[in-house]
Amino acid sequence: MLVLNSSFYPLGVSSWRKGVLLVWKKKAEVIEYNGHFLRDDLRLPCVIRLDRNIFLPHKDVALTRKNIIARDQNTCQYCGKKSSNLTVDHIIPKSRGGELSWENVVAACQACNLKKGNRTPEEANMKLLRLPRKPKIPSNLLDIVRFAKSQYHEWIKYIPKKYLS
Ligand SMILES: [Zn+2]
Repeated sequence: MLVLNSSFYPLGVSSWRKGVLLVWKKKAEVIEYNGHFLRDDLRLPCVIRLDRNIFLPHKDVALTRKNIIARDQNTCQYCGKKSSNLTVDHIIPKSRGGELSWENVVAACQACNLKKGNRTPEEANMKLLRLPRKPKIPSNLLDIVRFAKSQYHEWIKYIPKKYLS
């Protein structure tokens, strides 16, 4: 269930239990249903809006394997293959002083990672599909965008457009 601030800005994803409880306690109102039912007479909301604004400090996306692969859209940044079994490649290898930073890591399939080995892309003659950057999206929007794109398309209209590309 998508939880919006009272200003309609997306805050986070909640379990349906927690969401229904917020509505029942009148701390949130239902903005949208998606046709699912809890019981025959009880529609399940898919978007709710809090009755007040919660201030959420901007938090950067954590540099984790999962988030690196999500940034690279589950695509090997060398050969372009989509896979659920990607590794993280240090562009400048760790052993040669390459650091763990958003700009120096990319998702890579096992074959490309193995082929590149302990070399730079230039030495291995392997081109990156694009230059890796730090994601600009705040961390609380990361899951919202992922869910909105994969299954809850009704959430998309609540997400600022700049985070949807
Ligand atoms: Zn590859």
